[in-house]
Amino acid sequence: MKLVIFGPPSAGKGTQAQKLSQKYGIPQVSTGDLLRKAVAEKTPLGLKVKSYLDQGRLGPDDLIVKLIQERVSKPDCKKGYLLDGFPRTIGQAKELDKMTEVDVVLNIVVDFDVLVERAVGRRSCPKCGAVYHIKFNPPANKDTCEKCGSRLVQRDDDKEETVRNRLKVYREQTAPLVEHYRKKGKIADIDGSKGIDAVFEQMVKVVDGLSRSP
Ligand code: ADP
Ligand code: ZN
Repeated sequence: MKLVIFGPPSAGKGTQAQKLSQKYGIPQVSTGDLLRKAVAEKTPLGLKVKSYLDQGRLGPDDLIVKLIQERVSKPDCKKGYLLDGFPRTIGQAKELDKMTEVDVVLNIVVDFDVLVERAVGRRSCPKCGAVYHIKFNPPANKDTCEKCGSRLVQRDDDKEETVRNRLKVYREQTAPLVEHYRKKGKIADIDGSKGIDAVFEQMVKVVDGLSRSP
């Protein structure tokens, strides 16, 4: 099972990807997490992409594609995977088309005005990648990850100005991707304005429907 999750920044991709990954037993492959990890570990690739991330820009296609190829060739991806944050450009989508055929693209649709509020209140676990929101999905114990006990952080790119720039980049570069996949009949639109569980329910309906219609 190969799933892709689409949506503007802070639409809820990471949150839903975690839940889907748990329910269907496939790994969540998040370009953002892979990149932030490479930056934190100061790998050669991390050093190259750091300036892009800090400005809310996309990393160069060839680097991102390489990162994803490496990740999905690991044994835990044999049964399938869930792509979160990839592809982001038409160039990346074409590379992915060459690599494999995805089953469905879950496209989270949500108004831009709620996105800034979601992003600015987001807190993430630097160790396990779990995502929380100070208002919409607060951790039981303030500032502490429920899964691994690490201290939660606000991502550098969740400052309001960077968020607005990421939304602009999304509109220009990523939104056309929806059309690419819509033409292939792969898009399932998901109403992302609802609460976390209601959004998840819509996704489960789509994914469960896949196995019934071969
Ligand atoms: P993305 O991966 O698309 O950037 P996240 O999953 O990190 O988005 O979600 C962004 C923020 O919004 C997080 O703080 C998350 O807890 C919160 N959030 C996610 N989905 C919802 C929702 N349906 N309703 C309210 N808040 C949400
Ligand atoms: Zn954690």
